[in-house]
Amino acid sequence: MKIHEYQARQLLADAGIPVPAGSMVETVSDAVAEAERLFTGGETLVVTKAQVHAGGRGKAGFVKLIQSMEEAKEAAEFMLGNRMVSVQTGPEGIEVKRLLVAAGVDIEKEFYLAVTLDRTTGVNTLIASAEGGVEIETVAHENPDAIVRQHIDPLTGLEGFQARALAKRLGFTGRQIGQAASIMVKLAKLYEDLDASMVEINPLILTPPSDDAPEGRVMAIDAKFSFDDNALFRQPRLQAMQDPAEENPSEVRAEEAGLSYVALDGNIGCLVNGAGLAMSTMDIVKLHGGEPANFLDVGGSASKEAVTEAFRIILGDGRVQGVLVNIFGGIMKCDTIANAIVEAAKEVGFEVPLVVRLEGTNVDAARDILEAAKKDIPTMQTAEDLADAAGKVCTAVA
Ligand code: GDP
Ligand code: MN
Repeated sequence: MKIHEYQARQLLADAGIPVPAGSMVETVSDAVAEAERLFTGGETLVVTKAQVHAGGRGKAGFVKLIQSMEEAKEAAEFMLGNRMVSVQTGPEGIEVKRLLVAAGVDIEKEFYLAVTLDRTTGVNTLIASAEGGVEIETVAHENPDAIVRQHIDPLTGLEGFQARALAKRLGFTGRQIGQAASIMVKLAKLYEDLDASMVEINPLILTPPSDDAPEGRVMAIDAKFSFDDNALFRQPRLQAMQDPAEENPSEVRAEEAGLSYVALDGNIGCLVNGAGLAMSTMDIVKLHGGEPANFLDVGGSASKEAVTEAFRIILGDGRVQGVLVNIFGGIMKCDTIANAIVEAAKEVGFEVPLVVRLEGTNVDAARDILEAAKKDIPTMQTAEDLADAAGKVCTAVA
């Protein structure tokens, strides 16, 4: 699960990490009122930012620095009235329903800071770079030496001396070191406490010297957090932050039906029981030259209703040009699946080729059900084994 920047900023501020003040708004008039409040409070620069779960907003024109009420109105009208197309959204773009209107800051230098799991070592790791503001993937590609890493001991957490050493390596000096190190330690703790899978501040900034901060101030002006869905049950604060409008609608429906579903980019819809079998099914589809449209594990003992809902979700995806059903009946009974296929055929209809491979508990009953339904489901083929099934569905969509 992901949250919006304005929500992540709230979490940062509550953890004691400096963030400019701001508010989330949903209308142009509220955006203008919020900008007015900030200007009246003495701010000379305000920033309006689209709140969507995709990055690359700056380059897409959905982060705007404003200095007047007219500009505030213009920026809000543009962002709420246009879909945002960025490198992370695909050409159709995404709708913007919320904005953050926040105090703008002058920037001396931009840095990158994140905590995530290093999967090769299995250790949470702080990742930082003095080349902030740009995507970390670009830095990793063009200048990998500019990225510094610190493993975080699971027992002690990130320690002060480690954070200070890292801050120095990034080029912070004098009082800046303590500020940057404190942010790193707090961010690492936040990551741990919230069961996050990724917390990213990009950019972390240093402000230019001023009278009350002669060495500048270190603060966060953008934040992107994602969390482990499996730990959400013990994170009520995060549950309340979930924005269904930003989630994939099929994934939301699947979650409600108790199905484990992840949308992918291909055109072969897969319905499988068991996560391991689902993964090997995707592998064998790819081996035969096909591209799965989804990962779908209906679970060990799904009801006919849940399986029928699974077919509705798969067939509701306009990109699906063929469906592969691969069931190994253990606790799950093959005839339950066969009945769900018949039900889905009646209700939504299989306009696209359907290949079914069933094995295990009640398979004979299932075969009888499918045999009897064949005349009503002309696009259905049955398969002998998994390789045969993958071959048939890939041929059918080719
Ligand atoms: P992203 O493009 O979606 O990652 O959005 P960001 O919030 O990171 O903004 C993109 C860029 O806009 C930043 O890297 C900054 O260079 C600039 N920016 C954002 N907020 C401010 C601000 O308050 N003041 C100034 N001077 N620049 C800002
Ligand atoms: Mn950013």
